[in-house]
Amino acid sequence: MNLMPSCKDVRENLTEYMEGKLPLSRRMGIRIHLMMCKVCDGLLHTLQTLPTFAKEVLRAPAEAPAEAKETYDRFLKNIRETSKS
Ligand SMILES: [Zn+2]
Repeated sequence: MNLMPSCKDVRENLTEYMEGKLPLSRRMGIRIHLMMCKVCDGLLHTLQTLPTFAKEVLRAPAEAPAEAKETYDRFLKNIRETSKS
């Protein structure tokens, strides 16, 4: 079991983390990561301040159509690039 997720894991699970949808072990790992990683922590704050429509996009389910997945990926990529600086 991997208790300490990577930055990539954290970013992929941030919206679910915010919504409390993750299992406890996963949530704890992300929480610990966020305490130690300023980049991911900053990203969480960015997500928390997003308007509702953006959150709807982020909530794309696993079975979402390809376009939705693409939008979601592009959005995450955008966030990653923004958080680099
Ligand atoms: Zn991180």
